[in-house]
Amino acid sequence: MNDLLLKNVVIHDGEQTDILINDGYIKKICAGQDEQTAKKILDGKGYYAFPGFVNAHTHPCQTFAGGKWVDYDYPDTVNKRAKAEKEYYDVHGKMNGVKNCYVQFREAIRRGTTYLRGHIDVGFFGLEEVEDALKAREDFKDVLDVDYVAMPSNGILNMTTDPSITIPQAVKMGVESIGGADPCDRDRDPVRSVELTMRLASETNADIDLHLHEFGEMGKFSFDLIVKNIKKYNLQNRVTISHAWFLANCSDEKYQNIANELNENGIGLITHVPGHVPFPSLKQAKRFNVKYGVGTDNMRSLWGPYGMNDMRERVMLLAYLSDFRKRQDLEMAFDAGTYGSAEVLRITDYGIKENGKADLVVYQAENRAQILLEGNLPYFVIKKGKLVAREGKLEDCVPSYSD
Ligand SMILES: [Zn+2]
Repeated sequence: MNDLLLKNVVIHDGEQTDILINDGYIKKICAGQDEQTAKKILDGKGYYAFPGFVNAHTHPCQTFAGGKWVDYDYPDTVNKRAKAEKEYYDVHGKMNGVKNCYVQFREAIRRGTTYLRGHIDVGFFGLEEVEDALKAREDFKDVLDVDYVAMPSNGILNMTTDPSITIPQAVKMGVESIGGADPCDRDRDPVRSVELTMRLASETNADIDLHLHEFGEMGKFSFDLIVKNIKKYNLQNRVTISHAWFLANCSDEKYQNIANELNENGIGLITHVPGHVPFPSLKQAKRFNVKYGVGTDNMRSLWGPYGMNDMRERVMLLAYLSDFRKRQDLEMAFDAGTYGSAEVLRITDYGIKENGKADLVVYQAENRAQILLEGNLPYFVIKKGKLVAREGKLEDCVPSYSD
């Protein structure tokens, strides 16, 4: 007996079918399947199904959401925000990372995310945030896939503990990647910053996902250092660059050389779709075959007041700020938040296909463009073959936080 039969859903570009699921994987996709073969039946009513959003960039331990309103004055530059973050922690101490992960994971799930990457700070409180994040991930292991980046938010050279002890320890505890931020602009010693990050990744066998907010030649300088160290430490196909603002408004001529380096070294890009600065173009990335995914970044935290860990909203903003109007373009933006992110994060068995993971989101819509534009909450969210949310409400199998 199979676990679940999801009947009458439209997939890909319009084919209506049934999806039979067993043991967390898709077993069979075809119309008119026998209801006797599964323990549970869900009727998709002809709505659209896709393989779940992949939120490729979040900071799950940090949010004001889920608690009382906090008035917070946001400074106007990245560096000033980093400084303000430190001042906030000096006064208020560390946030409740476990609770914040619960708040963010629950929002992510009910809004149709089935996989999430979290950047966990190791710069201020040593491994305390990592401990919180790992506890929350364990609690959610049946309802959300999560991978983590050990990230010194204020730069690897500005950590309050010794990076060559703290970061390997974080990897040993279960964190998959090493992060960092702005080797020039924040660490102010880019050669040492990039070399240390990449060397630690090489020594610990971790992947890398760096925040790179630097623009123009400064960002390109850091990028060149990253490529140089990928070659030095053989880190091909293990590096992701988040934000990559230096690629915004780049001529095709200049982009070509950078795209060659990105593709030869297997580097993917993640955008969080900033509204205040230009970001790398999705269409240009497609033209040059560059891997491009999407994340929501902060959820009402010390870095900004926006966001509810909502990937549908974020791919809508990607389309909106890119001035996409045609259905095929809207769906290109949508797909950057699903297949695009999955490719950058190297998620295996992703997609609606036989033997693919049974991670499925059903929306009351005819196609992806309509989901992007009309913005309902998902009708069903199915994770590892199990219903985890229905019409925006979480099922009992999703953990809720209690002190
Ligand atoms: Zn970030």
